[in-house]
Amino acid sequence: MRIARYEYEGRARYGLVDPEGGKVREIAGDPFVRVETTGDARRLEEVRLLAPVVPGKIVAVGLNYKDHARELGMEIPEEPMLFLKAPSALIGPGGEIVYPPQSQRVDYEAELAVVIGRVAKNVKEKDAAAYILGYTCINDVTARDLQMKDVQFARSKGFDTFAPLGPWIVTDFEPTEAPVRCLVNGEVRQDGNTREMIASVYRVVEYISSNMTLFPGDVIATGTPPGVGSLRVGDVVTVEVGGIGAITNRVIAA
Ligand code: MG
Repeated sequence: MRIARYEYEGRARYGLVDPEGGKVREIAGDPFVRVETTGDARRLEEVRLLAPVVPGKIVAVGLNYKDHARELGMEIPEEPMLFLKAPSALIGPGGEIVYPPQSQRVDYEAELAVVIGRVAKNVKEKDAAAYILGYTCINDVTARDLQMKDVQFARSKGFDTFAPLGPWIVTDFEPTEAPVRCLVNGEVRQDGNTREMIASVYRVVEYISSNMTLFPGDVIATGTPPGVGSLRVGDVVTVEVGGIGAITNRVIAA
């Protein structure tokens, strides 16, 4: 299934996107409880796609690909390195990334995002798949200069619009070997694969859920492959995960 969130006639709704991608069928109620359509179907061009979920929290893993740790000149962590991104930073497909005046260097980070489906506490790696609703794409936009300056990541990763998420949640997806790419103005800047992750998606769910309870709708950004670089006002940035789709956003001045 491909679960989207969209706005139509001024109201946000969940919907199922057809395999051909032409239509979205409205879901009755809460897709985390049951997926049942209302019978209302719209062409995708008629609606505005939103970030596919409204998470209580976005937990992110830093330095989860060896070659990315190397390019930043950082040690490869022995355990996953976690930080939080503000849910207020979310934008959906087509939303604009606002370049904050406090930063001189804003970077893209293409990542596979996990959407939690069930309350998860102390989940074992081997059981983790059952707690995941599905997967989508996230751009972990980062004010790199402020990240290096601040000890904490709250500011550099938490600006409004710094969490493009979407285009939809794919429920039947194999996370162990999927291409993760970033394109800027159509040029490939990152071209990685989830098989190069240091901690697998399932290990990450185990690790996070041993620290904090994960709730339905919570999002995990699983780390970025090598090739991070900066964005400029006017750039159009796409994060793409093979088997899921892509999210594209333009960078605008504040
Ligand atoms: Mg990241």
